[in-house]
Amino acid sequence: MRILVTNDDGVHAPGLWAVAEALNDVGEVFVVAPDRDLSGMGTAVSLRTPIRARAVPASVAGIETFSVEGTPGDCVILATQRLVPEPIDLVVSGINDGANMGQDVMVSGTVGGALQGWYHDIPSIAVSVASLSDVRYDAAARTAAALARAMGRDSARSPVLLNVNLPNLEAVDIRGIEVTRTGPRAYRETVEPGNDGRNTYYWIRFDRVNTDGIPEGTDVWAIGDDRISITALALVTGAGESATILYDLADQVAAALGLTGRPPATV
Ligand code: MN
Repeated sequence: MRILVTNDDGVHAPGLWAVAEALNDVGEVFVVAPDRDLSGMGTAVSLRTPIRARAVPASVAGIETFSVEGTPGDCVILATQRLVPEPIDLVVSGINDGANMGQDVMVSGTVGGALQGWYHDIPSIAVSVASLSDVRYDAAARTAAALARAMGRDSARSPVLLNVNLPNLEAVDIRGIEVTRTGPRAYRETVEPGNDGRNTYYWIRFDRVNTDGIPEGTDVWAIGDDRISITALALVTGAGESATILYDLADQVAAALGLTGRPPATV
């Protein structure tokens, strides 16, 4: 099984290497990732500039790694067409610092990278942890590995596009795993002006957590309840994987992480 790992936090991000190391036990891993933090790029693709890619040393021994002057979407396109031998069996994007859930998924570079994998008929998973500091990657890395194992066993399955979010907890403290649907906006932005001595500038920050009217069964609700959230984004974009497959995958993760007592489905 050949697995492409990308992200939007950049090729040096610890979350990327946490998941690459875990996936290295499941299959042959290639890393193709942006050379810098490009969070918030969505599925942007560079059409007006050349995209430089260079092989760089890996943070985990034996993983062929490319640093790309481009977006997560660029990385996956270059990987599928040029940098990684065919076939790629799975794309994993992450582990992102910060949740990617609710309607905000459309601006997520983490999801954007996974979306490009799915566009290329490759099962693809975006993985994020709901914290920007002191991020705990272990449960997320094990979740990605469990999903990769389960998905690798059934290669005839139609490509899925999964958005996986985890609370920033050790596996033992996670309350369960939920198959969810995409919720309302998880954050609202603030725009803060400043001045550099010549011009006014602005910082856009997604820093106001939306806690109003979060419906049960959504990704935002699951994270708020300290549960892992698995959302099939392709249900939004038009592919038709069945709920049965999703619950089966959730059960595989629960078993791998030793999560106890997944409550009845709420979707
Ligand atoms: Mn990011």
